[in-house]
Amino acid sequence: MRPDTRRPGFHRLTPSERRATVFGEDPALEALFASGGWDADFADRWVEDVLGPLALPFSVAPNFVINGEPRWVPMCTEEPSVVAAAAHGARLAAACGGFVCEAGEAVATAQLQLVVSDPAAAWASIEARADALVAELAPLDPALFAHGGGPERLERGAVFADELIVHLHVRTADAMGANAANTFAEALAPRLEALTGGAVIGRILTNAYPRRLTRAAAELPVEALAHGGISGEAVAERMLRLARWAERDPLRAVTHDKGILNGILAVTLATANDTRAVAMAAAAHACGPGGLRPLSAWSRSADGARLRCELALPLPLGTVGGLTVAHPLVRRVLEALDLTSAARLCETAAACGLANHVAALRALAGEGIQAGHMALHARKQDPTS
Ligand code: NAD
Repeated sequence: MRPDTRRPGFHRLTPSERRATVFGEDPALEALFASGGWDADFADRWVEDVLGPLALPFSVAPNFVINGEPRWVPMCTEEPSVVAAAAHGARLAAACGGFVCEAGEAVATAQLQLVVSDPAAAWASIEARADALVAELAPLDPALFAHGGGPERLERGAVFADELIVHLHVRTADAMGANAANTFAEALAPRLEALTGGAVIGRILTNAYPRRLTRAAAELPVEALAHGGISGEAVAERMLRLARWAERDPLRAVTHDKGILNGILAVTLATANDTRAVAMAAAAHACGPGGLRPLSAWSRSADGARLRCELALPLPLGTVGGLTVAHPLVRRVLEALDLTSAARLCETAAACGLANHVAALRALAGEGIQAGHMALHARKQDPTS
């Protein structure tokens, strides 16, 4: 059994005491934390026209129990109170056993825009050769294949008057898979042109990640929700009413979902994943015919003693590829926190998003965001406090 991460008073430790608590004595990691993991040369090799690195606070949130296992959650954010909120939401959830999470399928989908006079005939030709076309692509990425990934199948996407959109699903194993999917799509394009007589223009993945839906759920003891002089029962009812508001009003849903992304994007950034890809995947999933919808769903247990919250969104996170393994600090943290599989990282990020959401909704239903969360902001901005 892993050591419990429920640590009352963790927030009162110094950064060095927190590092010792989480990682034990690790001089190499200490040196990486001291430098932020970037030096100007590394930054200059990674991105263009660099002046120097910009450091952000790197935190770890305690109290998480995910699928029955205690976990530390790495978070990187510039916003005060987000990490405290995650720890608080995780503590509430832990009282009922913690988060139950399930990572989505590690699949990225590339789209190819085939301009062709008869899209139906073109798809018939492609479909007849689909298995062979997919098999021809697999050797292009032996490392991905060695980890159980690779191109999986073709599917017909949208059809317009003189255009056929072809989808190529790619199993990405522990990678986010954007480069892999794009590489396969570019290799597939001339084969589709030869087969159909058409011309491929666009060949790039969709950031919607329709098959990568990660789920997280938790229950909260109603009694423990008491806040700002308001009883747990009243806070629970107010939280349900707030959730209903977000279901009916897209303007409210945007901020409701932003509170979820506070946690998810902090984990995304701390693990050097692609924040824009995660934000767009979440927004695409939340978008309904009438505008944005809540990413979460709330209900009450039959006996009334617990509030249940569930979250589902596509999470294109990887633990290899991009900066994730290239950044020495991130790589060490992923190893030390046993987050080296993409599935575990997705579960962890979803749990963190839900923890932040729980804390935000409870504060809003209780004493209010300004009085609670914003008091922390104010204190941080006053150097005399
Ligand atoms: P990548 O190409 O850097 O690494 C993935 C590769 O690592 C795989 O293709 C495989 O060859 C290898 N690999 C080794 N071990 C593996 C394992 N256990 N599981 C899976 N693969 C393994 O990265 P990527 O994940 O293909 O792409 C992510 C990067 O692409 C991010 O930096 C992202 O910002 C960027 N990107 C994003 C977009 C977009 O979102 N639209 C477009 C292009 C690039």
